[in-house]
Amino acid sequence: MPKPVIAIVGRPNVGKSTIFNRIIGERVAIVEDIPGVTRDRIYGSSEWLNQPFDIIDTGGIDIGGEPLLQQMREQAEIAICEADVILFLVNGKEGITTADEEVAKLLFRSKKPVVLAVNKIDHVKQRQNIYEFYSLGFGDPIPVSGAHGFGIGDMLDELINHFPKAVEEEEYDDHVIRFSVIGRPNVGKSSLVNAFLGEERVIVSDIPGTTRDAIDSTFTKNGQEYVIIDTAGMRKRGKVYETTEKYSVLRAMRAIERSDVVLVVLNAEEGIIEQDKKIAGYAHDAGRAVIIVVNKWDAIRKDQKTMQTFEQNVRDHFQFINYAPILFVSAKTKQRLHTVLPMVQTVADNHALRIRTNVVNDVIMDAIHMNPAPTNKGKRLKINYATQAGVKPPTFILFVNDPELFHFSYRRFLENRLRETFGFKGTPIRIIARKKNE
Ligand code: GDP
Ligand code: GDP
Repeated sequence: MPKPVIAIVGRPNVGKSTIFNRIIGERVAIVEDIPGVTRDRIYGSSEWLNQPFDIIDTGGIDIGGEPLLQQMREQAEIAICEADVILFLVNGKEGITTADEEVAKLLFRSKKPVVLAVNKIDHVKQRQNIYEFYSLGFGDPIPVSGAHGFGIGDMLDELINHFPKAVEEEEYDDHVIRFSVIGRPNVGKSSLVNAFLGEERVIVSDIPGTTRDAIDSTFTKNGQEYVIIDTAGMRKRGKVYETTEKYSVLRAMRAIERSDVVLVVLNAEEGIIEQDKKIAGYAHDAGRAVIIVVNKWDAIRKDQKTMQTFEQNVRDHFQFINYAPILFVSAKTKQRLHTVLPMVQTVADNHALRIRTNVVNDVIMDAIHMNPAPTNKGKRLKINYATQAGVKPPTFILFVNDPELFHFSYRRFLENRLRETFGFKGTPIRIIARKKNE
């Protein structure tokens, strides 16, 4: 289920990142481990009164060297596209500025719920500073102090009041395969999406994403229903999407969250760069099935070894997803394009694969007999029982004498045994050790 999204908007220096960090609190340390935008702390998760949500600090989105007012407009535009509720932050020490009024106009027109907070109200006697902000037209301004942590709770109360009532369930049944086509600009994402949709003479129904402004295209091929969560289409709508690299990563992350399968598209002409790895890393961390699609295969000169060499290069860069199949295609000539959807189906099946407990146990117990866990300071890991606790991705729980003894290398050994036995091509699998009596 998608979480509601809050976006913070406001001119520079009003305290957006201070407030953002307050809200994220100690969870920053966790989200910072995720590659991509979160490292720059513009995107995070938190919860208030048991209501989880995501939050975006639009001030951290690098728009590039444009005039300030233009940058603010674009940040506000992003907030309007992405958020369920907008937190409009102003500076109670400085009063209203033209920039505040400009932003207010944009937000007002968007018809998204807006909560207005006046920051830097550090003392009770400064509270009178909030009154002038009534003229912005967003109701009662809430006094806060990001620096001292005052008023944050009241502000969050107000924000969650404006969340969509019941966050809509995804409108798709479980048998529908949701996939996204992810990659940096110009690798051929839109061309691929168009090829999938066009070629199949599909019934394309654009379901405008409720709040996220995503375009979902549903179609049926060989009796299987698919949904493409199209980020490429969104990007084409506004200039912001073209120019803002951080924002495109942010949006890719949101699309990945809603997908079962992620197609990571590379450009055969350009090879692999760091950002490709970040995105694939996020798909892996999020537990999604992954296919690496090398596009524009028509555009390079080849001999018999070219594909093999390229494949090895991809494997070297993407070792952390060595389970992902690699396809070499051309959206332009349609070469091998017909192999993509069957592969999406295969990896989606593996992603949702459930193995009977007795079979899991047999495999794990055989593996242990073949290669017992090494001892550590005289203690040896004992696995009593194994079961599959979940799917998407397949998740296995081992009940053991001491979870501390379950080391990385042994985990990898067991993962390999599970893969050799059951396949699991294209999907990450998780193995969790729990203490026997828990
Ligand atoms: P941003 O540009 O909107 O993200 O603003 P920052 O969060 O970077 O804050 C700008 C400056 O305002 C920093 O020097 C903060 O320490 C300061 N600041 C933030 N919140 C408060 C506050 O509640 N009271 C006071 N006095 N200063 C604050
Ligand atoms: P996106 O930015 O990732 O959505 O990429 P587009 O689909 O807009 O494609 C970017 C450019 O690459 C366009 O000029 C396409 O015509 C071209 N292109 C896309 N796929 C292929 C391909 O398979 N081969 C060749 N030679 N060009 C391609």
